[in-house]
Parts: sequence; structure tokens; C-alpha cells
Amino acid sequence: MIVFAGITPHSPILIPTIGKENQAKLKKTLKAFDILEEELYKAAPDTIIVISPHGEINNNNFIVNTQSDYKAKLHEFGDFGTELQFKSDLIFINQLKSQNEMTLPIQLTYSDNIDHGFSVPLYFLTRKHKNYRVVPINYSMLNYEMHLKLGEAIKEACFSLDKRFAIIASGDLSHRLSYHAPAGFSPQAKEFDKKMIQLLKKKNVENILNLDPDLIENAAECGLRSFLVLLGAIKKMDYDFQVLSYEAPFGVGYLVGEAKFK
Ligand SMILES: [Zn+2]
Repeated sequence: MIVFAGITPHSPILIPTIGKENQAKLKKTLKAFDILEEELYKAAPDTIIVISPHGEINNNNFIVNTQSDYKAKLHEFGDFGTELQFKSDLIFINQLKSQNEMTLPIQLTYSDNIDHGFSVPLYFLTRKHKNYRVVPINYSMLNYEMHLKLGEAIKEACFSLDKRFAIIASGDLSHRLSYHAPAGFSPQAKEFDKKMIQLLKKKNVENILNLDPDLIENAAECGLRSFLVLLGAIKKMDYDFQVLSYEAPFGVGYLVGEAKFK
């Protein structure tokens, strides 16, 4: 079953050893991560499924890393000390793959290391409790409907096993919210973030699918497809979407949210 669902940003700057003095500008997000970590613990999942937009992205295939143990390092961001380790959940991966052999392009890969799209949320969600298994899934560049379908397939696999699952959609909103933003400024960036958050709150999957492609393009987001996988998994469940924090101190929209099941 699915016992927890959340959305998190994944900027390495959130990690204290990397963000350093910038941490002061990220208070809302860091506080929200404290809440999310606690909520996750209370939901007591066996396994956390994380959807990431980074690392190994394939245009036509969803990628599931089937190594039995994963390491997350942050060397490329200047942190040589942090190293996280997680055990995989190969039973879940096998279930997902075998139930969707003919309907979903799921490519299995083997890699010891998982990218920051996985490691940043997992860093915050497993500070106090480390015994979760992890399933890292990279989204693809396939269309939005296929991402919803992947979410539905994840749900089916979760409910066909006698285990408790959490799903985390890792992703940032617009990368163009200010003039010093990494992708430059776009006047549509704010509009995108506002709309996205509104639609998540309203649980309006249909309107997310129908967002203006130009608006999405100009926003330079990375989270939309992750969110759609999450929504595919939970859309028929009874929940309220709660925004725990939203801020953009460096021109990138960081959203922490939880789908509170009733
Ligand atoms: Zn990103």
C-alpha cells in the first residue's frame, strides 16, 4: 500500500555543508523538510520510491536502477564527507517491471551511485531514521500521459505487495524566477509556479496536463514530470495536498508538499 506521498526540491545548496551561509535564506524549506521527515517516519513506510529528473535520463524509457545497494555522494558539489547508503527493494522493482512488460518502457540499469535528484531529498528524509529501502526511478522525456501511467503502475505494484510504500516526487519549479536565476529571468516563471501550486492543491490533474506548453517551456522547470508520476499514483486516493513551504531565494522555485491521506 501507499502510506505517504510528498514533493521536495533537490538543490544541493540545501545541504548544510554545501549551502553554508546560504542556509539562512532557506529557512522555510529546511523547516518543511523537518516536518516532512517526521510525517514520513509516522507513516512508517518500508520503502521510499523516489522519482528524479536528473542523472541518467533516457528520452524513451523510464530508468530503474536495480543495484542492490546504492551510495549517494556529493563530491561534485564540493562536499567530500557526506556519503549515504541505501538498500534497494528488488521485490518491488520486479513487481513493477513484470506487471508492465508490454505496456511501459521501463529500462533496468545497474549503478552504485544515485544522483542528487535522489540524494538531496533522501539526505533530509533519512537523518533520524535510516532503515528504509529505496527505489530510484528516473523519469523520461516521454509525454505527460505516460508519466501518469507510470504512476498508476507504481500504485498497482505498491498495492499488490504486502508492504508500506512512500513516494517522493523530487523536482524544482521554475529556474527563471529572478534576474540572477540559473536559467535567466522569464516573466512567465512566477505564473507557472503559482499555477502549478494551485493545481496541485485542487488536485486538478486534467488542467496540469493541459498547461500551456509555452508557459512550461519558459518556466524551465524540472519537477513537472516527477509530479505527474506522483499524481498518477495517488489521484484516485482520498487526500488533501498541503503546501509545507514554497520559496525561491535564488531564482529557483522550491516546493515542499505532502499529500495527506484521509
Ligand atoms: Zn532539478
